[in-house]
Amino acid sequence: MYMMVSGGYLYHTFRRSAIMKSPLKNGVNKTVRRMVKDPYSWKRRWTAERTGNKAEVESISRAYIDFLDRARTEREVVNYWVEKLREAGFRELLKVPKRKPRPGEGFFQVNRERSLMAGIAGSHELQEGFNMVATHLDAPRIDLKPLPLDGDFETGIGFMRTHYSGGIKKYHWVNIPLSLHGRVVRGDGSTIDLRIGDDDDDPVLLIPDLLPHLSKRVQDKRKISEAIKGEEMLALAGSGPIQEDTDERPPIVNELLDLLNREYGIIEEDMISSDLSLVPSWSPREIGLDRGLIGAYGHDNRVSSFCAMHSLIDIRKAKKVPIRWAMVMNFDKEEIGSEGNTGAKSQYLELAVYDLLEWKGCTGQRREMIGTLSSSFALCADVKSGMNPTFKSVQDPTNSARLGAGVTITKYTGRGGKTGANDASAEIVGSIRKLFNSEKVVWQMQETGRVDEGGGGTVAKFIATRNIDVLDIGIPILSMHSPFEVVSKMDVGMGYQAFSVFFEKFCR
Ligand code: MN
Ligand code: MN
Repeated sequence: MYMMVSGGYLYHTFRRSAIMKSPLKNGVNKTVRRMVKDPYSWKRRWTAERTGNKAEVESISRAYIDFLDRARTEREVVNYWVEKLREAGFRELLKVPKRKPRPGEGFFQVNRERSLMAGIAGSHELQEGFNMVATHLDAPRIDLKPLPLDGDFETGIGFMRTHYSGGIKKYHWVNIPLSLHGRVVRGDGSTIDLRIGDDDDDPVLLIPDLLPHLSKRVQDKRKISEAIKGEEMLALAGSGPIQEDTDERPPIVNELLDLLNREYGIIEEDMISSDLSLVPSWSPREIGLDRGLIGAYGHDNRVSSFCAMHSLIDIRKAKKVPIRWAMVMNFDKEEIGSEGNTGAKSQYLELAVYDLLEWKGCTGQRREMIGTLSSSFALCADVKSGMNPTFKSVQDPTNSARLGAGVTITKYTGRGGKTGANDASAEIVGSIRKLFNSEKVVWQMQETGRVDEGGGGTVAKFIATRNIDVLDIGIPILSMHSPFEVVSKMDVGMGYQAFSVFFEKFCR
């Protein structure tokens, strides 16, 4: 196992040891043993070998599975965390008394129910900078169009028109059960929250694909990115009588409008003012006969939010006081470019720091706010591409991540000649490497893929524009942006440990 998946580094080590050392006498096994002892090679480690308490990893994984099952949209994730924060004694920032915060005191602030800042006051002054994990809560999904309802006379099928959100392979999202989640604002301003499809006896929606028996001419020769086209993503919403085409709408559309009004008090125009999304209906599951992996919708990027928030909450519960102020920023809209007033480009981060400074009795001068940001350090946490055994060619075996080999450190993301990257300096990488090595955090270095193979990015470059020192970090994942993504339990446990030591101990 070890040798097979670590072929890249062993190969390079072998070459060097062959040059540096005399010819071998006793065969290959001894060679390997000697190479592994080589003190100058970087060695990939397996999380399982370094994680002392396997029961703790299992318990974190169970909590993570429960979290994923309960929260499938960014709004649901924010509400989940607010409940957990309150239980652990964190207080909403605007409601804390106007006195100096005590070291160890927990606080949070919600932005439009879509992004969330939470933190713990440290023993140092806030102006000396804070340790932040910046992450995102939104996940790729299938949104409904503003006026989604339509139907077909000849088949009697009623459907919802959709517009996908985020960089998905559209063919992944057909023929799977989909739940309808979101909020509708009605004409009088009142709101209705929908959550249909998660319970076993709930109905679900589904985008039907074409049967293979008849796809030869219409579909089989299409490019894979067009196997299902955007306008073909019609979700089955009902079945009614067939009828001759008339100037009216198909009868099933009126039946569905009746149903929506009867059950939820919604009229068609209400759907214009809604955030309604289709998300996979299935619950997370353990994957593999050894149960070492977790399959679920939304690992990207709820796994990072979970590891960071869970460690922050546990620090507070254990009444530990971090050296520097600890903070988690959970952003929205990363999957469409960190846009809008709830994304990482928004000035919400600056506002949160102003509010924290004011709480400390500072007058909220701009110089002080920028100074605080400039002295801060952010780990930008997002999922990272793990090597897929079927498609190894897209990755450089040495500079790529493996599931089960710990948290990933990514010096730069981007594409081509590092376009769109936050390229962390040697000093930034060095400081986290030193922390993780001294605290026995298992880590691995990775690039998204081979040079010019493609690429991607996350919130890091937007956080770095605030003059904060930023390093990309993450959890390796398979099947990214699909309705059922895969992570390793051991990496979830290591993510939790990595953020815990960063919050508690990191100080430059
Ligand atoms: Mn992500
Ligand atoms: Mn993503």
